[in-house]
Amino acid sequence: MSCSLEVKEKLKPVQKTNLMGMPIAKVENFFAEFGEERFRASQTLQWIHQKGILDFESMTNFSKSLRRKLTSIAEVRPPDIVNCEESTDGTRKWLIQLNGGNCVEAVFIPERGRGTLCVSSQIGCALDCSFCATGKQGFNRDLSASEIIGQVWLASKSLGKFDQIASKCITNIVMMGMGEPLMNFDNVVDAMNLMLDDHGYGLSKRRVTLSTAGVIPAIEKLGNVSDVSLAISLHAPNDELRNKLVPINRKYPLSGLVSSAKRYLDKMPDNRRKITIEYTLMDKVNDRSHHARELADLLKELPCKINLIPFNPFHGAQYKRVTDFAMYRFRDILQQHGYTVTIRTTRGDDIAAACGQLAGQVNDKTRRQERYKQKLGEEQPVKMLM
Ligand code: SF4
Repeated sequence: MSCSLEVKEKLKPVQKTNLMGMPIAKVENFFAEFGEERFRASQTLQWIHQKGILDFESMTNFSKSLRRKLTSIAEVRPPDIVNCEESTDGTRKWLIQLNGGNCVEAVFIPERGRGTLCVSSQIGCALDCSFCATGKQGFNRDLSASEIIGQVWLASKSLGKFDQIASKCITNIVMMGMGEPLMNFDNVVDAMNLMLDDHGYGLSKRRVTLSTAGVIPAIEKLGNVSDVSLAISLHAPNDELRNKLVPINRKYPLSGLVSSAKRYLDKMPDNRRKITIEYTLMDKVNDRSHHARELADLLKELPCKINLIPFNPFHGAQYKRVTDFAMYRFRDILQQHGYTVTIRTTRGDDIAAACGQLAGQVNDKTRRQERYKQKLGEEQPVKMLM
């Protein structure tokens, strides 16, 4: 009996360390553990994230014995793309498979002179903002750092970056896909470090943006370890309305959120940085003139720019898109108060890749998806606020 146990032990597959999502400090430690020089870490990152190489045998500046050693104990494994759709406006959306039948989505938005990749951080989202398709999918789990940076790697490969044939390239990354990034803090920070690392994707801190619904303690923590650009998904100018649209507001109300955003900026060495305020405009919900004036007042102490996003409807959504008249009126009021205001052009609408429409495939652990589907079958849409 002990003999067969021994055989089983020997046959057990070795759990290999996946280097895909490791920032440089962790790869350095990994090499140090088996007596290898630390500079191997930067070489490894370049092979993976700049040349797109997953196979240690192809890492030709490593000795044969090091390549053999790495093959036996480590791997570089991104997730798989199961579907790719391209919009008539050039936006691309990838459906990315993870274990357990779950999928997340990543979206690339090409514009003149830039290309923005929107990356997911969780399978579903626990926060359940009422205007967001992801929230309706429920929640399964956090993505690992490998699964987060794996989206960047897959998009880079798909766009031809590693083969030097990219006609469009990723100049900006926004953590604005599925999930609340600050609820998956450590993995998101590891992945963002790879986005910023010169041996990784080499993006500047201004071109990597984390968007949060307002997890105040995590904003404080982020300011201690990172200086990426911060966007706040605000969507309402007062607590009463925001409690309905962004339920986490009940725990972290607006006044505290605005102060924590200010403190985040105070920690930045560069005093010209601004917070981006995202405000999704929904018809007769949060798009009235008095909402614009209230918003102007709320943000008066915060260095910020405001990005207005016309609501993108999805199946079963209880809100409607803002009218052009209300949207421009809202913008004009904010501009009269001295704010820089942009209106986000809707992109990828025809492939459900627009802001707030990402849904993926979530094996929901919260039963929220089931309740939402039941509700769609049984109830009339919720009455709009005036
Ligand atoms: S808007 Fe963001 S935080 Fe809110 S449910 Fe959607 S993914 Fe989650």
